[in-house]
Amino acid sequence: MSTMTQNEHAGIAGKVVAVTGASSGIGEATARHLARLGAHVIVGARRTDRLETLAKELRAEGARVEHQALDVTRRASVEAFVGFARNRLGRLDVLVNNAGLMPLSPLAALHVEEWERMVDVNIKGVLYGIAAALPVFHAQGHGHVINVSSIAAYRVVPTAAVYCATKAAVNFITEGLRQESRTIRTTIISPGVTESELGRSVTHAETATWLAEYRKHAIPADAIARAVAFAIAQPSGVDVNEVVVRPTGQP
Ligand code: NDP
Repeated sequence: MSTMTQNEHAGIAGKVVAVTGASSGIGEATARHLARLGAHVIVGARRTDRLETLAKELRAEGARVEHQALDVTRRASVEAFVGFARNRLGRLDVLVNNAGLMPLSPLAALHVEEWERMVDVNIKGVLYGIAAALPVFHAQGHGHVINVSSIAAYRVVPTAAVYCATKAAVNFITEGLRQESRTIRTTIISPGVTESELGRSVTHAETATWLAEYRKHAIPADAIARAVAFAIAQPSGVDVNEVVVRPTGQP
């Protein structure tokens, strides 16, 4: 906290921020960082025990944190998540669409159910978030959609065809939203390899072995949380449209 400038703090304190997929990794680190900067944070995910522990820990520090069960593949669940902010806290300033998964495998392995899950969570989950937040943002006259994409949106590699496609879709959806709106800020956060539980969704053995090696250079999830905070902290007329954050050593 001592290294934060007054401005960073001022642009975040008091804002109501909802973070999807906050039970681990980048979402958890983001919730933690923003709550400590004075945001009122609502954390959502399916593992509610983790959310409860996080909320308790942060509340003990004096932070304002609420937790909600959330499944981003269910539109009604996402509506309820955003509705909680609107109804209980009076407004929603920022929605961080962070929930995602990455069960990599070669297309020929035909892990079709995993392809479907990636589409459902990484693309449709983001769209449901936007659908839930837009009416709130329009009624308020302001709002900020932050979508956690990936450097995978820019380059496809073997085993990552579907994952990369979902992240490229997130980028196009975010840019489309930006072009259509004059009052809503949009930010794409594109992390490189970051410490989290993301690799655990890989069931293809050979890919899991390759990925474990690839992910050795991961940076802490807090590095991504600081990028999210940077985008939120800007004055309302300043729209940070994309931030790419990689480990220095990542090719
Ligand atoms: P984690 O696996 O640690 O976190 C993923 C989060 O998504 C969990 O909180 C999980 O919660 C949540 N989630 C998954 N499915 C659902 C669902 N149906 N409904 C609600 N929440 C869900 O990985 P990361 O922190 O790395 O992932 C966060 C984002 O960052 C993802 O979008 C990922 O693609 C992106 N990213 C990560 C990179 C990395 O190297 N770590 C690099 C580039 C991008 P729960 O299971 O409790 O529901």
